[in-house]
Amino acid sequence: MATVSATLDVGLDVGATKTLGVAIGPDGAIVAQVREQTTLGAAGVVDTAARVFAALRAATGEPLDGPLGVGMPGLVDVERGAVKHAVNLGVDGEWLPVRDLLSRRLDLPVVVENDVNAAALGARALDDADDVVYLSIGTGLAAGVVLGGRLRRGAHGAAGEVGHVSVDPLGAPCQCGQRGCLETIASGSALASAWPVDDPHPAAALFAAAARGDAAAVVVRDRFCAGVASAVRVLSLAVDPVSIVLGGGVAQVGDPLRLAVQQALHAQAAGSPFLTSLDLAGRVRVVPADYPVAAVGAAMLGQ
Ligand SMILES: [Zn+2]
Repeated sequence: MATVSATLDVGLDVGATKTLGVAIGPDGAIVAQVREQTTLGAAGVVDTAARVFAALRAATGEPLDGPLGVGMPGLVDVERGAVKHAVNLGVDGEWLPVRDLLSRRLDLPVVVENDVNAAALGARALDDADDVVYLSIGTGLAAGVVLGGRLRRGAHGAAGEVGHVSVDPLGAPCQCGQRGCLETIASGSALASAWPVDDPHPAAALFAAAARGDAAAVVVRDRFCAGVASAVRVLSLAVDPVSIVLGGGVAQVGDPLRLAVQQALHAQAAGSPFLTSLDLAGRVRVVPADYPVAAVGAAMLGQ
């Protein structure tokens, strides 16, 4: 059945290892999905994005001339469509005008957004709720906030930067200059240093060891999940979302992560009828496996 191209929304999630592209139909279903290894560096990133877009055109058989949404890590100037400090992409130093470069090359409008913010829109699509927070537990810890159905970046683009809430003035130094930030407890890099294993998925290795009853793993897992729970609590008390969706590399652990974070939330609420009444544990979800949350959200940027 032919689909009218104007009704397909297209989004790209540009990551350090892969660039994922999706085309989404009017009912929200993913019509086509393409994944390519990202070529690093300014020119490489733009080339990869153009290649993935061309593959989506081929896969859908549609011209796809509507706005293209692009989610990227690093500092994103949405007004200018430019990216900086995306060190993992090999994009640093000068602002990279991704929007203008891609728009000229593909001859269509392009919208660029930070990948965590894009993923927040994708997380919102999971629940069809207007107030949703996406908590990315990747190398760092940061949230994207959707309120009233709209992405909220804040006055300085810092809305959701909960990873830099310091919870321990005597804690480990953080790259932001503070000590004891939640990011030093509840991020992929914090987990990898707390549980140093020769495994490409240290989070999965940690949760598996804890499930086997390894006492040291249980301690590390529980401290990690208490940190995630604190981030959930801060975000919930700040904006009171319907759901908090856990995403990022660590969230690939899936349900064991959700269950451990919910347990930590119950423990933190014990003794507080106020916190208990808010049922924060009941609002926690994990991005389903194989749901390309940031690419789906990027596809909604042009709407
Ligand atoms: Zn910090």
